[in-house]
Amino acid sequence: MELNFCSLSSGSSGKCYHLGNESDGILIDAGISATSIRRFLSRIGVPIQSIMGILITHNHIDHIRGLEVLTRKNTLPAFTTSKIWKSILNPRVKISRDCIREIPLQEKFSLAGFEIEAFPVHHDAPETIGFHICAGNKKITIATDLGHICATAATYIQAANLLVIESNYDELMLAQGKYPYFLKSRIKSDHGHLGNHQTSSFLADIINDNLTTICLAHLSKNNNTPELVLQNLQKTFAERGINLTGQQRISILNRNMPSEVIRLTD
Ligand SMILES: [Zn+2]
Ligand SMILES: [Zn+2]
Repeated sequence: MELNFCSLSSGSSGKCYHLGNESDGILIDAGISATSIRRFLSRIGVPIQSIMGILITHNHIDHIRGLEVLTRKNTLPAFTTSKIWKSILNPRVKISRDCIREIPLQEKFSLAGFEIEAFPVHHDAPETIGFHICAGNKKITIATDLGHICATAATYIQAANLLVIESNYDELMLAQGKYPYFLKSRIKSDHGHLGNHQTSSFLADIINDNLTTICLAHLSKNNNTPELVLQNLQKTFAERGINLTGQQRISILNRNMPSEVIRLTD
């Protein structure tokens, strides 16, 4: 099975990821405008007609900005839990009933040839989920907004061949930066975001030969840089005596433009 992953955008302005096989594909979150999503898809050679649906992680604007227009203009179904739908829908956000698909937590469903399971994560929205996606013998886990990694999320993350996980802020930059105290506390809390050190030490705990691709996502514009993410990861791995085998690929996802297309092969 051919399998391609591309991050169309992963910055504070909005997140949107594409996963595709030979014929079909799905989007995970629609946090940039529908126009940008269509433009970025065409830039990587993916026809919008091949998109079978959108998976939504939670109701924060940087994950749903393009959802209303994309569902309306392209009549795409969108999949998330009933609790997250309740938190998204309001008089200003109107999504056609035909496009609303409610999914239960931790139960597999099929879409575009993929087997998909949503799992709960800790974040400061009414509910937030990650996705575990099986495609042939490959497994992809996406966990982009979480304040800490609970045992449930860790199970799905450990099973991945391709992992998209956030490395949101550099702990020192956040501490020394201009954000007000309440915002710093919110970001650092167990229901906020993962810092570089948290993510890299977790990755050092779980790294294994099956985890061939790690994509670090959701970098803060004000409190992080791609260089710091990489330095932190290298330092943590060196301290823990971990040598990457050369089979593993680490990718820091761009904030505002598509990443390279990552091809997973059997
Ligand atoms: Zn969020
Ligand atoms: Zn977010």
